[in-house]
Amino acid sequence: MKFSDIPGHERVKERLRALVDSDQLPHALLVYGRSGIGKMMMARALARYIHCTDRHDGDSCGVCPACIQHNSLNHIDTHYSYPVLKPAGRMTVVSDDWNEQWREFLGQSRYMDFGEWLKLLDNVNGQPRMYVEESADIIRKLNFTSHTGRQIVIMWLPERMGEECANKMLKLIEEPLGDAMFIMVSNDAESILPTIFSRTQRIEMLRLSDDTVAEYVEEKYQLPHEDAVAIAHLADGSILQADYRVGNMDHQKEFLDLFMRLMRLAYQKKVSDLRVWANEVAALGREGSIDFLSYCLDQVRENFVYRLAIPKLNYLTVDENAFARNFYKFINERNVLTLTSRLEQTIKDIKANGNAKVIMFDFAVRVIMHLRQ
Ligand SMILES: [Zn+2]
Repeated sequence: MKFSDIPGHERVKERLRALVDSDQLPHALLVYGRSGIGKMMMARALARYIHCTDRHDGDSCGVCPACIQHNSLNHIDTHYSYPVLKPAGRMTVVSDDWNEQWREFLGQSRYMDFGEWLKLLDNVNGQPRMYVEESADIIRKLNFTSHTGRQIVIMWLPERMGEECANKMLKLIEEPLGDAMFIMVSNDAESILPTIFSRTQRIEMLRLSDDTVAEYVEEKYQLPHEDAVAIAHLADGSILQADYRVGNMDHQKEFLDLFMRLMRLAYQKKVSDLRVWANEVAALGREGSIDFLSYCLDQVRENFVYRLAIPKLNYLTVDENAFARNFYKFINERNVLTLTSRLEQTIKDIKANGNAKVIMFDFAVRVIMHLRQ
């Protein structure tokens, strides 16, 4: 992992390079920001840059022994610390007990999908954390003489450090052994214990730009540009969110189909067909119905915006766009608000555990009236 492998974040890279080049690295650096933007990649690229013996062009070389060890996660002076679960019957547990899973995780999830980590820990409902014995284990590792001049501990999610663990870790951060350095990577800096937080030098990583996310989606999934842009907009600057949205595309196609049928049937006043439609939506279940109605809210807004004919304001997939091309004329300043509040009310009714078939049919029939406003 090197800086140039990481999309975006040019200013953060500049700052980190400057800290290394001017020999001003702190004992504890905290890289924080929302999940799915590449913070762990940044931490790993920084560690490799620090250890590389042939840095040039603002990056590590990739071919010196240190770089090669970093690439295979075998660098002798780089240690990883991360939240884990304590297997039943075990008295103590440290990160290294899950080393095999951790290596698999870093190999498969560059953007550190927490759900994937839970799967590897074999408990999707688990609440992994760093246990108190973690600090002793880090001290033990740091007591070995450094081979490369600087020992680095890359700590993922320090917000999951228990108080007991944090208290022990504190001393280590204040008075590090030799020139050991901590690079902490946090998704939720506000939840880090204040005693730890206040002793770090902090670098915030911001959400990625929509362009960066769209480029990633287009390249990784070979999707049409319009679809990639629509997904990037919904992903709100997070690659993990974008991956999730792409994974849900089949789902979204189903929603679009239901949305189009609703509007066509309502326009044609086909009441008995609308009843069939309502039963189909109700069959999605409570969460599914709510997701679908939220999708309808997005589509109503998008179709209203469509009339402004400013493409960059619209975030529609190719298929959604094909429908909007004619449908947008039916959403105007009169009915956009009434339809929106009708949808919001319907979501509330479903949430209140009402009879979904009745609620959806009532909603569908009212759409007939809204479309004629
Ligand atoms: Zn190198």
